[in-house]
Amino acid sequence: MRTPTEIEISLNALEHNIRFIKRLVKKNVRISSVVKGNAYGHGIEQYVPAAESFGIDHFSVFSVDEACRVMKVKQPGSAIMIMGWIPKDQLSWVIRNEIECWIFDLERLRLCIKEAMKQKKKARIHIEFETGMNRMGLNAADAAKAISLIRSKPETLDLVGLCTHLAGAESIANHVRIHRQIKQFKRLASLFEQNGLRPSVLHAASSAATITYPAFRFNMVRIGILQYGYWPSLETLIQYIGRRKDKKDPLHRIIRWKSSIMALKDVKQGEFISYGTTFQASAHKKIAVIPAGYAHGYSRSLSNSGSVLIREQRLPIIGMINMNMLIADVTAIPDVSTGDEVILIGDQGELSISVASFSELSNQLNYELLSRLPAGISRRVVQ
Ligand SMILES: *Cc1c(COP(=O)(O)O)cnc(C)c1O
Repeated sequence: MRTPTEIEISLNALEHNIRFIKRLVKKNVRISSVVKGNAYGHGIEQYVPAAESFGIDHFSVFSVDEACRVMKVKQPGSAIMIMGWIPKDQLSWVIRNEIECWIFDLERLRLCIKEAMKQKKKARIHIEFETGMNRMGLNAADAAKAISLIRSKPETLDLVGLCTHLAGAESIANHVRIHRQIKQFKRLASLFEQNGLRPSVLHAASSAATITYPAFRFNMVRIGILQYGYWPSLETLIQYIGRRKDKKDPLHRIIRWKSSIMALKDVKQGEFISYGTTFQASAHKKIAVIPAGYAHGYSRSLSNSGSVLIREQRLPIIGMINMNMLIADVTAIPDVSTGDEVILIGDQGELSISVASFSELSNQLNYELLSRLPAGISRRVVQ
């Protein structure tokens, strides 16, 4: 069923971004595509097969429900890694389906061993170290205990990786902290190695560290925001292009969020438009009603300030954004008609509405805005 607003995912843009990332990290570094948050709002069901068609074969999610969705659409050869939440009663599903999961405390390690014994099947685990972010992971004391637990039950575990997460590699202000974290990560990893535990991958870098700290890529990187065509922060982009001759942004946004004109109306000078009195027509106006409102994820804070693209022109939103509709001033387009395409985010002709301009705030907000695009919007993969 089509919905009043629709999301398009561009295969060409995605192919371009994946090529860029592959060139950046070289062959010996595995790319895990991070598809938590409904693939940053792009839609797991649409995004995963598209990424696979360009050679991605490892997907990271936060929770077991997301893993289940990836499972349904992925190729048999692709791996899934759960970085976060698994309720106890679903650990058996995870192990049965050979899904990799992060061990961030000893309790989960013990549960994995127990469940693996029950199933007579190895649990595929990554040990997460706490290295200074102070969120999740095993500290040094727990890491030592984990080593003896793992060594005592080798038949139950497949130690796939050792990992950590960095606390803000997208900002140079965190430089010292990030270096300390990596030092601690290496220390704990070598402790494992000294005890004969040599997993096939070490990983610490998300998009920002992959760009800014090439030495911290080890042999796997967890790439989220970059593959969708956005930078973790403006600083990261500046870091990257600072080292290059070509100063153009090398990434392409893959999402386009669009709607169409539902109705047109002429409004006389002096009339108020939409709820209340926030917008009064200073002259005769032609307005377009567009079926996109805050229930569809279009923020109400863009009332009287956002813009949309219609017939390759940028047009202001006037009046309040409603639950299901917004109004644009289309006086500038005499031959406008109902059914015309309306771009909420993305390109049309030479013009573009970026997620950042859409939110009018920092780049950091890309993550939040994208992942909040409602799952109920229909999504379509296009060339
Ligand atoms: C979200 C996430 C990533 C990816 O982050 P990006 O900045 O989008 O590349 C990597 N690792 C972990 C643990 C994450 O939670």
